[in-house]
Amino acid sequence: MNIANLKILQQDRLPTKKRMDERPHWIVILPYPFETSNPGKIPYASVLIKRREQSGRQEADSEPLTTDLPNAIGSRVTYACLGSGLEAFKLLTLARKLVAVHYQHKANDIGIAISGFDTVETERIAEAIISAACAAYAEMPGYKSKKDKPLVLKKLELYGLKTRHGFKRALAEANGNAMARYLSMLPSNKLTPSDYLKHVRKLAKEYRWKLEFYDIAALKRKKAGAFLAVVQGSPTQDAGIVRLQYQPGTTSRRGKVVLVGKGICYDTGGTNLKPANHMFGMHEDMQGSAVALGTFMALTRLKVNFPVECWLALAMNHIGPKAYKPNDVITALDGTTIEIVHTDAEGRMVLADTLAMASKTKPKLLIDYATLTGACIYSLGTAYSGVFTNKDEYIPTLIEAGKDSGERVWPFPMDEDYDKALQSKIADIKQCSLESGSDHIHAARFLQRFVKGGVPWIHIDLSSSNRKGGLAHIPTDTTGFGIRYTLNLLLDKKI
Ligand SMILES: [Zn+2]
Repeated sequence: MNIANLKILQQDRLPTKKRMDERPHWIVILPYPFETSNPGKIPYASVLIKRREQSGRQEADSEPLTTDLPNAIGSRVTYACLGSGLEAFKLLTLARKLVAVHYQHKANDIGIAISGFDTVETERIAEAIISAACAAYAEMPGYKSKKDKPLVLKKLELYGLKTRHGFKRALAEANGNAMARYLSMLPSNKLTPSDYLKHVRKLAKEYRWKLEFYDIAALKRKKAGAFLAVVQGSPTQDAGIVRLQYQPGTTSRRGKVVLVGKGICYDTGGTNLKPANHMFGMHEDMQGSAVALGTFMALTRLKVNFPVECWLALAMNHIGPKAYKPNDVITALDGTTIEIVHTDAEGRMVLADTLAMASKTKPKLLIDYATLTGACIYSLGTAYSGVFTNKDEYIPTLIEAGKDSGERVWPFPMDEDYDKALQSKIADIKQCSLESGSDHIHAARFLQRFVKGGVPWIHIDLSSSNRKGGLAHIPTDTTGFGIRYTLNLLLDKKI
C-alpha cells in the first residue's frame, strides 16, 4: 500500500510566501465571493484570482484550475473557488480532479492551503482532499512485465486547520477502500476462494479477529443447500463462509453490527452461461465481500466501542457437468425449498444461507453488500447504489447518509405483493423470475426471507461498484463503494 507511511502535517496558520516558493505542488481552496473573506492572506491568492478571471470564470464553481506560480521553481497549483456548503459528492469529485494533476506529475509531497471558511467547513474540504489523495495513490494490481516504479505519497501538509484527530477516520476509511479495490481488481486466477481465505487469515492475525471458516464439509453438516448448489460445479471444492469477529476493549450498550458480503470470485453465469460482454469483468463479483471486509477493517482500526462481525460468502459460479441447473429444487439451510430458475442468480443463493447463519447470532443491525443484479444498474445507472431495508423508518437516514458521505444510494420498495413473481408450483419459492424487470426488488424480497428473528436489515445492491473514470473521490473504475457510506451510517447517523 503506497499510503501506508503517509504523514499528514497540520498548521493552523496559512503558508508564508517562502513556504509556497519552496514546495513544487500545491492545492489551494479559496472562498467565493472573495471580498467578504480576505483570501489575500494566502500568498499568490491575488495571482490565482486574476488568472481565474482571465479564464472567464465569474461565479463560485467546483471545476478546478491549474496554474504555475511566478516563482523560481514554478510551483504547480491546482485550485478552486467555492461557495460554502458544496454537497459532498461534488466536493469529492472536485478533490479527485485537484489531486489528479499532481499524481500525473509524480508528486510525493503536496501542500494544501484552505482559507476563508469556518472551521467545520475547512475540515470538510480538507477531509475530501486527503481522502482523494489517498485514493489516487493506493497501489492497485498490475502484471505488466515492464513495471513503472510505484508512486508513493509521503507527505500532505495542511495549512489553515489543525485538528486533534489527525484525520484518523479518513485514513482508516482510505485503507479499507484501497484494500477492497485491490482485492476486487485481482484476476480470479490470483484470487480463488482459497487465496482469499489466506488473505483474510493474515488480516485476522494482524487485527486480532476471531476467525471461523465453514468449509464445504461443515456446510453439508449444516444442510446449507442454497450455498452448496452454487459451488457443486466447482472443480476445486475450496468455497466456504468466513466469520470474523471484533470485540471492543470496553463494553458498550450498543448492540452488535454484522456485515455480510457476496464473494463470488468469478461468475461465469453457470449453466445459464453469460455472453462475452457480460462475463468480462466478473472477477469483480466478489466486491460486496471486499467492501464488507474493508468496512470491518476500518471499524477495527478506529477501535469502535461496539461488537462487529463480518461474514464472507466465498465461492465461484462455474459451468460443468456437476453444476446446478434451472428446474433443480434445492433445500436451503433454514428448510426453505427453492426452485432454481436461472443459474446466474447465484448471489442470492450464497447469501441466503449466509444471512440465515449471520442473523441467528442476533445482531442489532445486519447489513449486506452485493454486486447482485443488472436490474439495479438499469434502474439507477452506476452513479448510485440501490438500498433496501425491512425497516421503513430507516429510509430517510439511509438517503441522508448517502448525501452526507458522497456515496449516494436510493431506496427501492419491498412490498409483499412483489412475491407473486416468485411463486413456485413445485417448491416454497422461485429463485427469481424470468418475466419481469424488477429483479433487484425480487432479489431483496428473496433475501429478506432468510433474515431471521426480525433482525433490522439493510441490503445494498452495489450498482456503483464499477464506473468508467471513477466516482466521487475514487479515480479507478472499480470504486469500493460502500465503506465510506457505512462509516457515515454507523458513526455519524448512529443507526
Ligand atoms: Zn451471477
